[in-house]
Amino acid sequence: MHSPFDSDCPPIEPSPRVRQSLLWRLAVRLYREHRAEIQCPTLRPPQCRVCGREWPCEGRRLAERGLVVALSESSRQPVE
Ligand SMILES: [Zn+2]
Repeated sequence: MHSPFDSDCPPIEPSPRVRQSLLWRLAVRLYREHRAEIQCPTLRPPQCRVCGREWPCEGRRLAERGLVVALSESSRQPVE
């Protein structure tokens, strides 16, 4: 699947393309925390090393959504 950000290591500091920098920073922290545990795939399905859930875990998927939304052009801007 194509990803709109560097899926190996999204940078902590939001790029100029990021619309919502706070959301980006939160999502990157979550993204870096939830990583797959490397193990032999024939033994059992991969798991997240932090929460132990089946990979990709909920935390990781949420982080990916957050990064996409932070980049999204259509995000609603705060209204004064
Ligand atoms: Zn996880």
